[in-house]
Amino acid sequence: MKTEININPSAISRTGGATVITRICMYCKRVLGEKPGYGVQGFSHGVCPSCLAEARAHLEAEFETEARASLSLSLLPRNEGAASA
Ligand SMILES: [Zn+2]
Repeated sequence: MKTEININPSAISRTGGATVITRICMYCKRVLGEKPGYGVQGFSHGVCPSCLAEARAHLEAEFETEARASLSLSLLPRNEGAASA
């Protein structure tokens, strides 16, 4: 994943160079914690445990649906795909 980091020099000088990266959940925006910014002030996106469980279930269901669709459409011989449906 490519992350674009915007550095605002005036923001850094105001805080005396002590910058932090605030980690927030990309789904529910809950604050997960902070880590040293090393000159960069901003946000980093993570996933909290409850959203991770939800996202995983959603992705697995989606993957299963897509895998089944692509199997029946392209990978299986026409007669076998029809038989399993
Ligand atoms: Zn969350």
